[in-house]
Amino acid sequence: MRMLVTGGAGFIGSHFIDSVARTDTELFCVDALTYAGCIRNIRAHIEDGRVGFFCADIRDRTAMEKIFRDIRPDTVVNFASESHVDRSLCEPLLFTDTNTLGTAVLLEMARKYGATRFHQVSTDEVYGDLPLSGGEPFGEEAALKPSSPYSASKASADLLALSYRRSFGLSVTVSRSSNNYGARQFPEKLIPKTLLTAMKGDAVAIYGKGLNLRDWIYVGDHVEAIRLILEKGQTGGIYNIGTGDERSSLEMATRVLSLAGLEGAKIEFTEDRPGHDLRYSMRLDKIESLGFRPRVSLDEGLRATVDWYKNNSDFLGSILSLDYQRENDLFR
Ligand code: NAD
Repeated sequence: MRMLVTGGAGFIGSHFIDSVARTDTELFCVDALTYAGCIRNIRAHIEDGRVGFFCADIRDRTAMEKIFRDIRPDTVVNFASESHVDRSLCEPLLFTDTNTLGTAVLLEMARKYGATRFHQVSTDEVYGDLPLSGGEPFGEEAALKPSSPYSASKASADLLALSYRRSFGLSVTVSRSSNNYGARQFPEKLIPKTLLTAMKGDAVAIYGKGLNLRDWIYVGDHVEAIRLILEKGQTGGIYNIGTGDERSSLEMATRVLSLAGLEGAKIEFTEDRPGHDLRYSMRLDKIESLGFRPRVSLDEGLRATVDWYKNNSDFLGSILSLDYQRENDLFR
């Protein structure tokens, strides 16, 4: 297999690369190294020749054309994305550009250069939210009712990808995962942000009353589910990925603080984010029918995550001092 992974220098994409790099798949990565991309996440694989790296923007048709023409991947897995909902409220057009139009460019290149498989990495946020209690969990056939420019741009990309299956016969699959946590997540997201803020001795900010519920999955389980879909998923299939373990943001923050020995940290409730979804909940029988079971419990996963951040303060330090950008510059 000759696989092109986009967004592989980011959080989830780099864990996916770690996993696939253990197989005999020929691996290539395209990443624009935006503020969220960190070459250090995959540098060892590049330097030992396991991953061919292209610093390029998926929106750049000329660059994508050259890469697809040169390497002719048979499989494309698209993680590249603007991924932070809060930012999508400040810069909505960037999200449409990257998440929707960028995916359109990749689909077109996959079609034109004969890829036989395209996997689109999506999110549970495309379904919109449920009330905090009650309501039916979303199955894959549920209507898409995204609430933010982020989730709307991802929903649009899902539809584009599926249209390439119907119109051009491209073998497309889509996965919609719940909230991920684990090592190397950029510290704008709840868990690393909570840790980083408390380690600095500052008050941890939580939106509203912190009651919003999310299903949480360990990043390693998410990437194994994607590999399972690539292996056994039906073409044209959409697969929800999650654990069924729903927790509020306040509970996640307090658990992380206590695991890190920072239970004394101050928590400050701040004005809620506009349009903040209350609860995401999905049916998981379809991915389970492929044999997926999350291997890592919330307790184990959070413990491993906290330990990683405590033992890798250089990762946070590098982000705070912008050193990671200087390292990225070596690969641009
Ligand atoms: P991330 O922000 O950590 O990484 C995104 C990566 O994409 C970065 O390396 C960045 O440099 C790269 N990128 C951004 N714009 C690009 C462009 N125009 N061209 C090339 N590369 C570009 O994101 P993540 O949390 O790893 O998320 C990966 C995927 O998983 C996204 O598609 C996201 O929507 C999806 N997802 C994330 C979560 C989550 O909890 N983090 C949950 C469900 C789905």
